[in-house]
Amino acid sequence: MAVDRSDVTAFVALGANLGDAAQALRDALKALDDTPGLRVVRASGLYRTAPVQSTGPDYVNAVAEVSTTLTAPALLDALQAIEQQAGRERPYRNAPRTLDLDLLLFGGARIESPRLAVPHPRMAQRAFVLVPLAEIAPALVSTGQLAAVADQAIETL
Ligand code: ATP
Ligand code: CA
Ligand code: CA
Repeated sequence: MAVDRSDVTAFVALGANLGDAAQALRDALKALDDTPGLRVVRASGLYRTAPVQSTGPDYVNAVAEVSTTLTAPALLDALQAIEQQAGRERPYRNAPRTLDLDLLLFGGARIESPRLAVPHPRMAQRAFVLVPLAEIAPALVSTGQLAAVADQAIETL
């Protein structure tokens, strides 16, 4: 069978700390999978983390592997549409949020546009990204990277 070269494997970070955050993440995974041209291949478990550079309730975080025929900008559009659907507001930087969907990796692409940076520039500093990513794609995260964020509290939900 021919390989569809337009299918890209991408990784999406999910986070929320307002309302029923765990349900928001489950709904977001469903909304992602319902997006035309996108399929959720696997998702990590849900994790609880303390806010980083912010205040407010604890976060619920997860990472999903998706397979998509969308371009990276179109995937970002889809992520932002799902955030809007979940009532996302941006009153100030790192504000508590009903849903945050970040594009971590898009195949092997390196993107530096005004609205999209891939790989996500801050992913290596964040246990709430690296730990769930390592759960579903261990080859993508080194033990050294995990050790570097080991001071950040994170537990399975
Ligand atoms: P951080 O990016 O540090 O996790 P944040 O998720 O709270 O912060 P947002 O307010 O959700 O930041 O997004 C701000 C802007 O970041 C978005 O409007 C989007 O255009 C841009 N952006 C750049 N690269 C990415 C990416 N890889 N994934 C998602 N958004 C991105
Ligand atoms: Ca984010
Ligand atoms: Ca974001």
